[in-house]
Amino acid sequence: MTNDKDLLTVRNLVVEYFSNQRPLSGEKLKVRAVNDISFGLKRGETLGIVGESGCGKTSTALAILKMIDSTSGEILFDQISISSLNKRKFRPLRQKLQMIYQDPFGALNPRMAVRDIVGEPLKAHKKVRNRKDYDSKIDETLEIVGLSREMGKRYPHEFSGGQRQRIGIARAIILKPDLIVCDEPVSALDVSIQAQIINLLEQLQQDFNIAYLFIAHDLAVVQHISHKVIVMYLGKIVEMASREELYESPKHPYTQALLSAIPIPSPDLEATREIKMLEGEIPSPLNPPSGCSFHNRCPLSKPECTKNSPKTTKITNSHSVACHLYS
Ligand code: SF4
Repeated sequence: MTNDKDLLTVRNLVVEYFSNQRPLSGEKLKVRAVNDISFGLKRGETLGIVGESGCGKTSTALAILKMIDSTSGEILFDQISISSLNKRKFRPLRQKLQMIYQDPFGALNPRMAVRDIVGEPLKAHKKVRNRKDYDSKIDETLEIVGLSREMGKRYPHEFSGGQRQRIGIARAIILKPDLIVCDEPVSALDVSIQAQIINLLEQLQQDFNIAYLFIAHDLAVVQHISHKVIVMYLGKIVEMASREELYESPKHPYTQALLSAIPIPSPDLEATREIKMLEGEIPSPLNPPSGCSFHNRCPLSKPECTKNSPKTTKITNSHSVACHLYS
């Protein structure tokens, strides 16, 4: 699911690191956080990446932003291979790639006024001609995200969670990026505020043709905003599909379990909902199971699943799954 027109292309990405845990032998243990994943993302499109904690979704995002090193594979941004660029060569591209964090309060400097926080990237990338230009860009950006000029004079602790996330979004869009990595940007917010932030992100996408890599731990959050969805488990992509295909015809038992956990907003339908409970915890990436890494939790596991890792099978041009049931 990658092609030449993609804004972002990820090919066979592997991210490994050494664990802090040391066995009695004292040798360093290597963790494969991202295990040979490939995907593409077009301008103006949203790709949801979903999975439990430890599935590799955040490591994937950090490798794309070059905040951690990738071990092997290739990352192309706007047809430029960024995996091999050093920091100095990557810097001009970095302004086109921004990030919105899960905890906006932790990501905002509490001692800086909001307008200085929002304007900081302009100074860092030398994108302002003079003070007037700087001030007008900040005022314009605050207004775009639904904050007033007056609010810019206040400090982060004076804002609600939703408003703080708007500040984080203002900071991310002020350089007019092509791609924003949204790392669980609404997980810490109330449901009604979540909807407002998702609506704002969608509006910004329409107005500025921004692509989003939207990371979440459940499929309910990404359903509305995503054009395509990737489901990850223990470092691998287990299913990838357009939104319609994934939500209407999920194939992988793990995707099916995640989907069955989403409450239905109709009391009658909710009463008949069949929840496919996931047994046990996600295994440690330090010691992944043999064969299919989901086999110890899968209700449909068969003998082959404990021995052989399933290959990816194409269901349609935009839908693929890694499971022996379809190979
Ligand atoms: Fe379940 Fe086997 Fe498919 Fe893995 S390969 S998801 S264990 S049926």
